[in-house]
Amino acid sequence: MADNWTIDDAEELYGVNRWGAGYFSIGDNGSIQIAPNHRLPDVTIDMKEVIDEIIAEGIQFPAVIRFHDILRSQVEILNETFQNTIEDAKYDGKYVGVFPIKVNQMREVVEEIMDAGEPYNYGLEAGSKPELMAVMAYNENPNALTILNGYKDEDYLTLALLGRHLKRKMIIVIEKLSELEMLIPLAKKLNVEPLIGLRSKMMVRSSGKWAGSSGDRAKFGLSITEILNIIEMLKQEDMLHCAKLLHFHIGSQLSDIRKVKEAVSEGARLYAKLMQMGVPLEYLDIGGGLGIDYDGTSSTTDSSRNYSTEEYVADVVYGVKQVCDLEEVPHPNLVSESGRAITAHHSCVVTNIVGEIRNTGNKFDISPAEDEHILVSNMRELINASDLHPQECYNDAASFKTSAYEAFKLGILSLPEMAKIDTMYWQILSDIHQSLDREGFVFQELEELEDMLASQYLCNFSIFQSAADTWAINQVLPIVPLTRLNEKPEVRCTIVDITCDSDGKLSKYIEGTEISDNIPMHKLKKDEQYHVGMFLTGAYQDVMGDMHNLFGRLTEVHIYCHDDEPGDFYIEEIVPGTSAEKVLATMQYNTEYMAQAVKKCIDKEVRKGLLAPREGVRWTDFYEKCLAGSTYLKV
Ligand SMILES: *Cc1c(COP(=O)(O)O)cnc(C)c1O
Repeated sequence: MADNWTIDDAEELYGVNRWGAGYFSIGDNGSIQIAPNHRLPDVTIDMKEVIDEIIAEGIQFPAVIRFHDILRSQVEILNETFQNTIEDAKYDGKYVGVFPIKVNQMREVVEEIMDAGEPYNYGLEAGSKPELMAVMAYNENPNALTILNGYKDEDYLTLALLGRHLKRKMIIVIEKLSELEMLIPLAKKLNVEPLIGLRSKMMVRSSGKWAGSSGDRAKFGLSITEILNIIEMLKQEDMLHCAKLLHFHIGSQLSDIRKVKEAVSEGARLYAKLMQMGVPLEYLDIGGGLGIDYDGTSSTTDSSRNYSTEEYVADVVYGVKQVCDLEEVPHPNLVSESGRAITAHHSCVVTNIVGEIRNTGNKFDISPAEDEHILVSNMRELINASDLHPQECYNDAASFKTSAYEAFKLGILSLPEMAKIDTMYWQILSDIHQSLDREGFVFQELEELEDMLASQYLCNFSIFQSAADTWAINQVLPIVPLTRLNEKPEVRCTIVDITCDSDGKLSKYIEGTEISDNIPMHKLKKDEQYHVGMFLTGAYQDVMGDMHNLFGRLTEVHIYCHDDEPGDFYIEEIVPGTSAEKVLATMQYNTEYMAQAVKKCIDKEVRKGLLAPREGVRWTDFYEKCLAGSTYLKV
């Protein structure tokens, strides 16, 4: 029972070590611990202390917390794994990876990645014109690559050629023949020699959510016929020496290592054949796709992966080497565009529960009244009907409730009678649930019953802003209480957000090694904040959020690890979330006009003598203060 609950039970339930990748664990004090630096696993930060400091700074939740050391660790781990494997394999090429900024374009994130990646000449990848403009300004390392993907117009190509003037290794990856037809005259006109990459459409089909990124119907890439035509065109223009890179990307979040192996062998073979035809390629770019074990199952589910980073890297390095040795061509430098794997772990959303919605929470006096309707007395008889099998009791209660609803519509039952039926119905259901705990009957609708009885914890955030993929593609993200993990969580609940949208809820939870419809959390205490964390939100979720219900971006807290600081950390920066007026302005509202309009109406009431002048001023100030304030709930 409650007394025997230990943090090991909490670990079993929430699986923090399974998805935490060594960065997250549960401390003896029952709160989440973070070890953000992979080189210093003993330096840990206590989430409780982070929360306390954020509160002491006067910051309201929800907030995105960024652990910059995790970002740096992930960059180091990926680069060093490639370097070590290349050395062990006696592979002749180098690894020169790039970070695809679409995964998280936040300036602070990109800057940190560039800084951590400098010793490895780690570069950036862009997939659109604005992303290209960002990477031009932030990748100044002349030895690092800038890979330019996505569909391109003349401005895009011209910017890329400007990059060549600045001595950057900008590789224009051709997605369509027409891009090359545009590039050749442009390069000649501007007298710049471009570096060209070719993106191949792959035959291997990845599995999972992004299976459509490869195969004949893929949106991106060149068929073999197109590649050969391009080579012909380059030869004619005396530009074949510009073709430097072969690129492919078979999809994100590759959950099965076999697909990685297949893609590598297809891509390496294509590289080798092109080399043999005299195309002087220097780089083989294997795209993104390195997965994250979001649900901690190490399996091929869409939210997991059945391999480690070491295995992935080994399959790439040894796979390419084998094909090249057989085909007797030089080993290319290897490029990967891992995005998710670099950023997913470094940020989490910390928020608080602002209320509980519970069917069994409200009670109406159910004592018998004179000449009450037979349905009311029937329902009452089901309470404490110990001679009935729980299944039978459940069926009867459900049927009485349906009949009562019909009777109400016909004007037969009164509102107080309906309230009684409702109260009794929920009481019966929760009694059945409790008796099942004790006696272990076989009960067909057990899951349905648990779902009906689960509380809804109202969480101060918007799914559409902070966890878009949980709604859009059924992504599973770990959600865990941040403290009290040494207490037994006794309330089964689902997490709902504060948007006015019934889709605004999380519908999948990690429970042990299973995915559940609801999750145990702790009983809320009066006058005590209950903080929960949603983890692994650093890839895509951080930047894809939308403005549904006009909840804007969250306040951000940037944390660095430092063992001279109390608690081994310090808050380096707090970036305030989008205020109500900023959010409104994005929808074309003029908030100054709004404030004036409201003030005018208040003044009118003051002139009529219906509001005291002082009171009028107070109301005006309050409206303006709310405009400048947060969009989320103040607790
Ligand atoms: C999205 C994308 C990536 C990043 O993929 P991850 O799965 O996040 O590593 C890399 N390359 C291209 C071309 C992409 O479109």
